[in-house]
Amino acid sequence: MNDGKNENNISPMIRKIFQPFANLLSTSTYINLSGKGLILPFYHTVSDQYLPHIKHLYQYPNLKIFEKNLDYFLNNFTPVGPDYLLDCVSNPEKIKNNAFFLSFDDGFSQFYSEVAPILQKKGVPATIFINTNFVDNKSMFFRLKVSLIIDEIKNNTPTKASIKAIENDLRYAGIAYSSANDLKKLTYSDEELILKIANVLNIDFSEFLKKEKPYMSTDQIKELAKKGFTIGAHSKSHPYYPTISEEQRIAETNESMDFVIDKFNQPLRLFSFPFTDYAMDKTFFDKINTDLSFGTANLKSDSIQNNFQRIGMEVSVNEHTEKIIKTEYMLFLIKKLMHRETINR
Ligand SMILES: [Zn+2]
Repeated sequence: MNDGKNENNISPMIRKIFQPFANLLSTSTYINLSGKGLILPFYHTVSDQYLPHIKHLYQYPNLKIFEKNLDYFLNNFTPVGPDYLLDCVSNPEKIKNNAFFLSFDDGFSQFYSEVAPILQKKGVPATIFINTNFVDNKSMFFRLKVSLIIDEIKNNTPTKASIKAIENDLRYAGIAYSSANDLKKLTYSDEELILKIANVLNIDFSEFLKKEKPYMSTDQIKELAKKGFTIGAHSKSHPYYPTISEEQRIAETNESMDFVIDKFNQPLRLFSFPFTDYAMDKTFFDKINTDLSFGTANLKSDSIQNNFQRIGMEVSVNEHTEKIIKTEYMLFLIKKLMHRETINR
């Protein structure tokens, strides 16, 4: 749901125990009890198409389900943009008011072709966070490559010899292969290995980028900006921050924002952390230059006033949005009882 990594201090067991009861209270009761009317749902993509490069990473809703999600949000919350969040930073009392800030990570082309028309029709603003290295399909997030490999294995039954070769390659990365899904254990530092495995299966990533164009182009993003959508950065290459040096983290953060400001004429420096902002301490926040930044810890407060936590909506496409949001509220109340509703950095 946040590209595969999520450190949330509520255990999956507690979530499982309490989830069935989430519907007992109404959304407005949850808002009153929690004192938190501001929610920030986020997605990667919404599509009616089969997307082999995303399919095996997380579940994305189709357009019909997405419209239903929007209806729930619109019936219970007012849609807001980044300016509203800036107001909340200077006036924290505002967080009590019902509002939702919608965003999309990774800059996938379906935002332009499928999502934006629905949002325009319904009058909902949204912010898209792009990886600057991937704009114009210049290169591709390593996890998309992994999904393409898994798709090939699952749908085209490779030869025994190919599987044997993949097994051997994975062993070097310390991964024991028992099914295609084990490939999801590959990380940002395994790029070379991912390429080697793709070669075994005759998958050509450059060809895929050229033909399928999974990411939006500069022109498409410019057009969306003109239509009123806001553009933020999501790092240059989508690394997992805890595994790269601080120098690299700062460059990935600040340079990607410089690119967005420069290329798309944006008034605000907006940044959503790739994967997660977990483990980023106050000193790091002091070194980056953002107006607003965003994590993926679901419904939580943050000791960094202009860093907002968002709720991943790709938990399960079959689960109604209302249940996802209410579960998050219920877990927030439990965290509050345990004094763990705020991330202290
Ligand atoms: Zn991402």
